[in-house]
Amino acid sequence: MDISALAGNPRLKELLSQREGGRGLSHAYLISGPVGSGRHTLARLLAQAMLCQGANKPCGQCGPCKKVAAGIHPDVIIAAGDGDKPISVDQVRSLRADAYVRPNEGERKIYLLEGADRMNAAAQNAMLKLLEEGPEYAAFLLLAENAGAVLQTVRSRCEELSLTPVNPKEALTWLEGRFPQKSREELQKAALDCQGLLGRAVEALEGGGEASRERSALARRLCDAMTGTDEAVLFEASMVLDKLGKEELPRFLDELEVQLGTRAAQGGDRKRLLQGVELVRTLRGAARLNANPGQLAGWLCAGMFCPD
Ligand SMILES: [Zn+2]
Repeated sequence: MDISALAGNPRLKELLSQREGGRGLSHAYLISGPVGSGRHTLARLLAQAMLCQGANKPCGQCGPCKKVAAGIHPDVIIAAGDGDKPISVDQVRSLRADAYVRPNEGERKIYLLEGADRMNAAAQNAMLKLLEEGPEYAAFLLLAENAGAVLQTVRSRCEELSLTPVNPKEALTWLEGRFPQKSREELQKAALDCQGLLGRAVEALEGGGEASRERSALARRLCDAMTGTDEAVLFEASMVLDKLGKEELPRFLDELEVQLGTRAAQGGDRKRLLQGVELVRTLRGAARLNANPGQLAGWLCAGMFCPD
């Protein structure tokens, strides 16, 4: 199959290029990598390759390929938890019931499960049963940030595809293809800022409007305060977290992490900046578990000024 549409990841491409599409693919894949690393792109390419009617799969041109790309193929089912919650055991059970209804149009029915690493043990065990006993036309694409958090029994039933961040050159090439109308300068900046995670670059370039500029300015201010020496200034700056909505909070934390990382790479106070990066990652995890923003602000101050 041809997955040249995915950026970077040469080893993965090499591996998959040796497979034929359609029935030549496994029935279960665990696709892991950080947010923005191309997991959804790879999942889409696999789904297309499984359903494609062209010669060189995925051709991208046939009816099924186009439907998958547009997110309207009836035999591709996307399962995600409710809001920030992971997929529940009840959801897996209803997928199981659905899996026994034969495909509508294609030869396979493909289930894409978001956040497989965040599913609890009961849900993962239900998933395991589905992988073991599901009908032969069913295929499962499990997405995870951390493959290590997926039960070993589930992992052993899947072929693992692990995505890695791409280098700035690969990022730039990919972005040039995706955004032919943008200036080279803009693309170069996005390619450097995204730290190898193209999803971030896409968001930055697509959302390049007001919201993203404001987010970037607020993050810069907090970034300054985190690297400063005045605890009161940081306390005041961290109040910004309290004003962000549920949707915006993770985006803001992503932006903050990028800015801290970029400064570290440019030779700021590396130790402190990386301490900040670690802290922001922890906060993002906590935000996902519904910690309230006021609490996050408190942790941020404590983490920067009393790391022990
Ligand atoms: Zn096709």
